Amino acid sequence: MSTEEVPYEQSELYRIRHSAAHVMAEAVREHYPEALLAIGPPIEDGFYYDFDLGKDENGKPKTFSPEDLEKIEDTMKQLLKKNAKFEHSSMSIDEAQIFFANQPYKVELINELAAGKVDEMGNPISEPTNEVSIYRQRDFVDLCRGPHVNYTSQVKANAVKLLRTSGAYWRGDENRPQLQRIYGTAWHNKAELDEYIKLLEEAKARDHRRLGKQLGLFHISQLVGSGLPLWLPKGAILREALENFLRRAQVDRGYLPVITPHIGKLELYITSGHYPYYKDSQYTPIDVDEEKFLLKPMNCPHHIEIYKCEPRSYRDLPLRLAEFGTVYRYEQSGELNGLTRVRGFTVDDSHLFVTPDQLEEEFIGVVELIQHVFQTMGFDDFRARLGTNDPNSDKYAGAPEMWARGIAAIRQAADKVGMKYTVEEGEAAFYGPKLDFIFRDVLKREWQLGTVQVDFLLPERFDLEYIGEDGQKHRPVMIHRAPFGSMERFVGILIEHFNGAFPLWLSPVQMMMIPIADRHVDYAKQVAADLRSQGLRVEVDGGSDRMNKKIRNAQLQKIPYMLVIGDKEVEEGQVAVRTRDNVDHGAMSVKDFANHAITLVTDKSMEL
Ligand SMILES: [Zn+2]
Ligand SMILES: [Zn+2]
Repeated sequence: MSTEEVPYEQSELYRIRHSAAHVMAEAVREHYPEALLAIGPPIEDGFYYDFDLGKDENGKPKTFSPEDLEKIEDTMKQLLKKNAKFEHSSMSIDEAQIFFANQPYKVELINELAAGKVDEMGNPISEPTNEVSIYRQRDFVDLCRGPHVNYTSQVKANAVKLLRTSGAYWRGDENRPQLQRIYGTAWHNKAELDEYIKLLEEAKARDHRRLGKQLGLFHISQLVGSGLPLWLPKGAILREALENFLRRAQVDRGYLPVITPHIGKLELYITSGHYPYYKDSQYTPIDVDEEKFLLKPMNCPHHIEIYKCEPRSYRDLPLRLAEFGTVYRYEQSGELNGLTRVRGFTVDDSHLFVTPDQLEEEFIGVVELIQHVFQTMGFDDFRARLGTNDPNSDKYAGAPEMWARGIAAIRQAADKVGMKYTVEEGEAAFYGPKLDFIFRDVLKREWQLGTVQVDFLLPERFDLEYIGEDGQKHRPVMIHRAPFGSMERFVGILIEHFNGAFPLWLSPVQMMMIPIADRHVDYAKQVAADLRSQGLRVEVDGGSDRMNKKIRNAQLQKIPYMLVIGDKEVEEGQVAVRTRDNVDHGAMSVKDFANHAITLVTDKSMEL
């Protein structure tokens, strides 16, 4: 039985969205006949199209107003309802250059198609093209390979919405013209669209940057620098709880901890091939005593040098080295976003050095660890994606048979554990194929989290070996893996998924003591000390606010339990328990409450 699923690019939704992009461009041209067309691809959850509207009298690029967007949407809906066919044809390069002569962006794409540089969407290709593919509906013609639906009416007018506009540089290059991008979304039907719009609004309310501030989890200081988050005490407590959980799970599975520095010689990364391949996403090398060093972009080469520090035999394998290793990548400032797009982040990294015979079993072990992590987090909606090399691209290193072996090993392992996956060409790491785990959060948004990669290449480049049972030298295989991916990104996603109301075991403050009057403060402090001595995280609100205000404050902080203390509780040695969902659970003995809470923490329960 095959466990492959249909990739998005082959789905009906993809064709609907691509078709919607063309009709949106047609509508824009009705209102702005002079608008120049750039590209308009489907994207996750929708589509966009980039336009050049020319310049205003001050020489600034003209933009779309919110009223324009409404007009365009209206026109687009009318055009969808008129039943035009999407007609496919082709033209020679010469014909296309003449046909699109008034569309300089299309002409640039046509020239690069002819030169074998990029496709109709500006993505790199390796073969020159002598014919271009064209789609037409009514008078609107676009340079396009499709696929599309057959008729415009197959895109339901009531299942389409234009969302927003933004500036975007032609081909992402800030030295090229600034274009106006319109984002839209399209679904099978109105119910799906309504659901999506609801989720978008909910996502805004859950924005981790806003919640991160409200809950005191992290801070971005402009003096430290954009994309370099500072973890505040509550954020650090949450992150440590995650790290300790994974550390424990790794100890159980025979991983060994290592710690490596934040910089390494440029030569190290030249050997690994991370430099110059990742050059654009790395910082400029640092000069130290006439040698060049790089801020660590990857942990792998450091772990490889640990493997190499002594002779290895088959008895040492598998060797599983693990580190929460911080790496630094350059991201354009416009791309930075709270914790989810940063310039320095910590990978829950590990490298497994295994014999070829151990590869499948170890790969399965890693997949099971990732499943265990996701299960514990309550993430039950996730899928896997097998990223393979694109045989036409030169960014992948290593012999074709290495790739074939790696891909076969991943398929076998995934089939054995019954894991469904899609295959995506061109999604591999440069050194080998990988299996990525993509989680769908409560808002149905997909996030790539954990990853497992098979690597025959770096063992080759670093000349790794072990002495086999036969007394001969052999080459080990490497597995790279990270269940969380990046601690920063993972916590950013957790904040939004849980809306800041973390399960008890992850909550930075698990319970707030709320003394009703001053005379109850001492007892509250005494109970807090008792609970703390049992490993629980407790604070006391000894301020002068009234009880209801204190309860509201704790709820705003999404603290799981509020323990209210009045005369009766002091007398009876009890606490009155409320949960953050505003349910009053009545009074219970401190001992019973502590036992209940400790059980939930130990079980990493989602309940309170
Ligand atoms: Zn198209
Ligand atoms: Zn690695």
